[in-house]
Amino acid sequence: MEILGSGTSQGVPVIGCDCPVCRSADPRDKRHRASALVHYAGLDLLVDCGPDFRTQALRAGLKRLDGILLTHAHMDHIGGLDDTRALQWTLGWEPHIWCEQRVLDALKKHFHYMFAQELYPGVPTWHIHLIDERPFRIGGAEIVPIRCMHGKLPILGFRFGKLAYLTDVSGIDAAEMEKLRDLDAMTINCVMHTPHHSHFSLPQAVEFLQRTGVKEGYLTHLSHYLGTHAELEAQLPPHIRPAYDGLVISAK
Ligand SMILES: [Zn+2]
Ligand SMILES: [Zn+2]
Ligand SMILES: [Zn+2]
Repeated sequence: MEILGSGTSQGVPVIGCDCPVCRSADPRDKRHRASALVHYAGLDLLVDCGPDFRTQALRAGLKRLDGILLTHAHMDHIGGLDDTRALQWTLGWEPHIWCEQRVLDALKKHFHYMFAQELYPGVPTWHIHLIDERPFRIGGAEIVPIRCMHGKLPILGFRFGKLAYLTDVSGIDAAEMEKLRDLDAMTINCVMHTPHHSHFSLPQAVEFLQRTGVKEGYLTHLSHYLGTHAELEAQLPPHIRPAYDGLVISAK
């Protein structure tokens, strides 16, 4: 799994901010909106498609995609879906999107022109596959959704074999925690040190990763409040690290 974006909803640097993190020269402190490209069972899957998707896809050299999985419909996770136009015209791939019903309802509002009876020339043909928290297949690959809470909003994370991608989580119940046993690596979000109404704080994210027993944990959806990559890394136990754009995470 390649991290395409490790930043919170506004990205880092934040427009107009002069803090040391936003002015940092370390490339790991340039955080696009949260997304990952997962290579799993012969498939290339994009998890979330935020406003930075075009830049991220160009940097990653995206030449193939088999599916787009959406965790939830906040704009930092869906704002780049209009750029799926390019996938149809250059890769010849009509976008296939896996999401739950409440996400589809939001897509129909934000991207109404993708659902018109007669599509405007150049608008791609979206194929929507509805999912819930039950495991599903894309081709031969089994993907396990994990039901999480993002404040009051139910969202999904995804498990791909020994790897899991979770973001925008503030709570998860014990039954869903069972789906996170025996993982080699996973991501989890945190936006700041202090409590947030819809995201784990840094201490909560660390505690959550330790509770899963995952071998390697990566923090994502990071804001400038958490300090630089180097400062954040220095505060973490050895098996937990901050993610950064371009980081490749592998099963062991
Ligand atoms: Zn988000
Ligand atoms: Zn800043
Ligand atoms: Zn969100």
